[in-house]
Amino acid sequence: MKLYETPPEFRVKIDKDLCTRCKRCNMQCGFGVLSYDAKEDKIVADHHKCVACHRCMVYCPQSAITIERNTHAYQDSGAWPVYLRERVYKQAATGGVLLTGMGNAAQYESIFDHLVLDACQVTNPSIDPLREPMELRTFLGSKPSSLQFETEKGEYALKTEVPPQIRLETPIMFSPMSLGAISLPVQKSLAMAAEMSGTYMNTGEGGLHKDLYPYARNIIVQVASGRFGVYDEYLKAAAGIEIKIGQGAKPGIGGHLPGEKVDDQVAATRMIPPGTDALSPAPHHDIYSIEDLRQLIFALKEAVEYSKPISVKIAAVHNVAAIACGIARAGADIIYIDGFRGSTGAAPTIIRDNVGIPIEIAIAVVDERLRREGLRNSVSLIAAGSIRSSADAAKAIALGADAVAIGTAALIAVGCRVCMKCYTGNCSWGITSQRPELYRRIDPREGAVRLANLLRAWGHEIKEILGAVGVNSIESLRGSRERLRGVGLDRETLDIIGVKPAGVGY
Ligand code: SF4
Ligand code: SF4
Repeated sequence: MKLYETPPEFRVKIDKDLCTRCKRCNMQCGFGVLSYDAKEDKIVADHHKCVACHRCMVYCPQSAITIERNTHAYQDSGAWPVYLRERVYKQAATGGVLLTGMGNAAQYESIFDHLVLDACQVTNPSIDPLREPMELRTFLGSKPSSLQFETEKGEYALKTEVPPQIRLETPIMFSPMSLGAISLPVQKSLAMAAEMSGTYMNTGEGGLHKDLYPYARNIIVQVASGRFGVYDEYLKAAAGIEIKIGQGAKPGIGGHLPGEKVDDQVAATRMIPPGTDALSPAPHHDIYSIEDLRQLIFALKEAVEYSKPISVKIAAVHNVAAIACGIARAGADIIYIDGFRGSTGAAPTIIRDNVGIPIEIAIAVVDERLRREGLRNSVSLIAAGSIRSSADAAKAIALGADAVAIGTAALIAVGCRVCMKCYTGNCSWGITSQRPELYRRIDPREGAVRLANLLRAWGHEIKEILGAVGVNSIESLRGSRERLRGVGLDRETLDIIGVKPAGVGY
């Protein structure tokens, strides 16, 4: 160890008796940890570089590798946990901002984990989802406050003109993840899975690669502050358009895709020169008020002749309810709220772990305020930022969301080990790398099947939950906070999210 260097976080252990020196592990590691020492005839590891991504373990034909957390003693100090001391060491050495990938790693308690759903017993019968039809279909977009019908040759026909909707066969979609933040094969997996499952992927702010145009009916395209890849055909091809204002992992700050990750295909898709840094400013330089936002919303509606809904994506922050009402009044059809556990390809660690609020609270306060102001029908709500299971999805919908979006769960489905080193571009699994030898490891078709399986499994589980709750459509669960109870949540939190404590009946 060098002077001032912190001990390695992980140790790569190679069982010499099992290892056949096939060197496959060297080739699999994207972080350059392993090499073959010909003099000693053994595989050696630079433990400092290991991020515990498990790729070498999975591909070792002899199961000779184990990755262990390196346990090393530090003096106890309540005020100075080890991770904070290690950050100080690193910053004292570099003078730089510490970057990270994925979602908030701080130890905030999950509110979802303290919410339980109701179930029917005796007087209000439950429904068996294996024998009764269950409706998961969800429409996102502005709804009229009343419907008028007319009769035509004895048949009823809808007279009210309904604004354009996005139709989902499951209330789960994929979060925005740009080309550059993730690799093209992963984007292809998401697009194919969205088509197979009747849901949507989202380009993020990186434009729409030409290979994805055939899937555009299941793709929502973003217009972000950098305006990367935004042009007429892009807007017209998509199922919906999303104005990105904020992101849960880094509310209030812009994005930076380093030039090394801007290869030819990223550059062509973003419409920038290869090798240049792709910088998204923190604000849109033409939006400083709700009126400005309204202008952009209607400029986009004009551009696509009012044929598709416009979504506005914001990060969950303290004033989220008032902001959401302003967005609804500005003419948005969908509001996408990203909680403070939402993931990212790259963000300053200090922002990711300390800025924003939990999605559970944001959904509840936004739903409540929109209802109070008579705006709830005019917009749909998508909730994201730590939807980790079908139970989280059901709870988010019971709190007031119309649908949820998953990012990290989708990446885990295609192999991500949540090592949080996405920003390095060295992802051994090829998920967040633009290095051809790494991203070629992803088979888009195989990834799509795994993602579609995940959505199907979660869909079945949500139907089980609906049956237990005694309703036969996801629509009936939406905003039903009566069917939730809190376990171990304090009074203030329960009041804010409008949920009673467990043990209190209707
Ligand atoms: S970074 Fe991943 S592939 Fe490389 S040694 Fe560590 S666990 Fe193995
Ligand atoms: S995508 Fe790759 S680099 Fe990012 S957390 Fe997952 S395994 Fe690590």
